[in-house]
Amino acid sequence: MPKIAVYAGHGGSDYGAVANGVYEKNINLAISNALSDILRQRGYTVLNNRTTDVDRNITQDARKANNWGADALIEIHMNSNESTPGNGTEMLYSIKDTGRGRQLAQASLNAITALGFTDRGIRTQINEEGQDEFGILRLTNMPAVLAETAFINNASDLRKLNVYDAAEAYASAVQRVFPISGSSPPPPPPSGGGGNSGGGSGTRGIQSTLNTRYGLGLTVDGIVGPKTRDGIVRGMQTELNRQYGNTLTVDGVFGPASRSAAVNVSSGARGNITYLIQAALYLKGYTVTPDGVFGSQTEAAVKSFQRSAGLATDGIAGPATQTALFRNW
Ligand SMILES: [Zn+2]
Repeated sequence: MPKIAVYAGHGGSDYGAVANGVYEKNINLAISNALSDILRQRGYTVLNNRTTDVDRNITQDARKANNWGADALIEIHMNSNESTPGNGTEMLYSIKDTGRGRQLAQASLNAITALGFTDRGIRTQINEEGQDEFGILRLTNMPAVLAETAFINNASDLRKLNVYDAAEAYASAVQRVFPISGSSPPPPPPSGGGGNSGGGSGTRGIQSTLNTRYGLGLTVDGIVGPKTRDGIVRGMQTELNRQYGNTLTVDGVFGPASRSAAVNVSSGARGNITYLIQAALYLKGYTVTPDGVFGSQTEAAVKSFQRSAGLATDGIAGPATQTALFRNW
């Protein structure tokens, strides 16, 4: 299993950039924790420099990743500048890199910019001694990326930023460059906006089930695109109408009316609503078999998703969890 160091920039007394009362260290940590959860769900071994708001030491963090034998490292940051706010995403990699750090930088850039951020490119940055400017790139010996996700001092970038989506994007980049080899391929990574070709029987199975149950006419191609995602929400709206006598418009948009009609789904539940929650988790890359039975695997996937989304980790897929699950696909 690939070993990935997922680091959060700054922390504790080092706030990183601060703009409009938002601290860079907190956003970095939220993305880093969500990304770590997703990668672990998909079978990676993950090393963190911090999982809470504590001081970090770059030299020690670099040594930790080296000693651990990380196959790759990604350190999450937010960009900032003085004067007129910049905008968009850029990725830094080491001048020592032999190829895969650059690839991870490019894949990360592609995935984050697919969420709607401006493409500022990938680059190296050297100091006066001709070494990497940034310690984590200078002091580590594996492919490494310092990710400047977006500009914290740009209100538009900040509005656009969804921690969970960014984590998903970084996870898909890691999977692209450091895939898990072996007999059971990971579920298809969720798209960073452009759709992706999962192709697994799992996704086809979901499309086919949605067609049978809800007459959606989806193309059964294994590709997780907007129609498939909307199809799951349409299915949920249909079930809420059929089973609970609601009169929701079946439009594939999980808005306030759907949210207030949503029911708590938890361990022991069975049926089509459980299936739809499982299907959404599956398409987002969580390890769960959509079978309509809410067992321990489903509960673990719900908890992991809740943690990534910053929700209470109770394993119950209620209205808040479903809203997070069905929104911003
Ligand atoms: Zn930073």
